Amino acid sequence: MDEVVVGIDIGGTVTKFGLVTKTGKVVLLDRMPTTGFDGFNDYFKTLVHKISVMTGKMSDRVTGIGIGAPMGNFLEGSIDMATNLGWGKKIMVARTFSEFFNKPAFLTNDATAAAIGEKTGGVAKNMDDFLVITLGTGLGCGIYVNGTVLHGKHGYAGELGHVIVDPKGRKCNCGRRGCLETYVSASGIMKSVRAFKNKKLFEGSVLHDRTAYPDSKAVARAAAAGDPLAEYVFEFTGKVLADALANIIAMFNPEAIILSGGLANAGNLLIDPLEQFLNQKVLTNLCGKTKIHISKLDSEKIAVLGAASYAWQMINDHSHSNSLMVC
Ligand SMILES: [Zn+2]
Repeated sequence: MDEVVVGIDIGGTVTKFGLVTKTGKVVLLDRMPTTGFDGFNDYFKTLVHKISVMTGKMSDRVTGIGIGAPMGNFLEGSIDMATNLGWGKKIMVARTFSEFFNKPAFLTNDATAAAIGEKTGGVAKNMDDFLVITLGTGLGCGIYVNGTVLHGKHGYAGELGHVIVDPKGRKCNCGRRGCLETYVSASGIMKSVRAFKNKKLFEGSVLHDRTAYPDSKAVARAAAAGDPLAEYVFEFTGKVLADALANIIAMFNPEAIILSGGLANAGNLLIDPLEQFLNQKVLTNLCGKTKIHISKLDSEKIAVLGAASYAWQMINDHSHSNSLMVC
């Protein structure tokens, strides 16, 4: 039987984990809530118990642990500013897992893990220059340049969600105003509904019934059914994203930009206005050169696969192992 790595995706509401072979096959997969625990130690105790049950007789085949998390700092293996989870300012997650399982553990940003997942088993398999944009509650970005993941000097490269698109715009959780993710994300969609619903044009919109349309999925359903406010919200979202992508394309000249996460499932509702506005905004010499894809990978698996693939990379990369392996 092949060796495996434990891949863990720590999301804001759900934690997914599984066993992944060196060739990128997800052997087992499970999930549990991230919230509802009495601090990180309580959460950790439940998670490692579940992982131990999952690995069972295969535990001697576990080679390491890979973790993807929002605000994941790969340099220190920590989750920084995890205050929204009630875990404090800096949690040394990789070290804690490594000490418990007595195996090397590696942590990276969740969007970087998604990009590694696309490179390992997705549409970016044969690409060296691409970006993955994760559209969930917030907006994350994983970047490949010349076939290598871009981490940045302090491990925070790819915080595209906090690029300011309107200095006087919506208030962001980071404490500033007008960040991209306050417009282009599941929560951004709901903010747009609230911002536009009082326009006279949208008086008859079904979205005025907040209990029937409580989240971005419901707004997508309403847009697909032809509700004018819902359609306008997706058009507006596509337009804001198009401006951001035109800037990204000018910066990185990528072969492709892959959209993943819950909001990406809106498909053409988002892609159609995005492509229309992008063609107008992108530099003329780059027009039509960067392909926009919706991830085809199972959203349940991608981050787990990416986190595990990151660990496999780090285990195999001896040049990094001296400085970064946490044992
Ligand atoms: Zn922000």
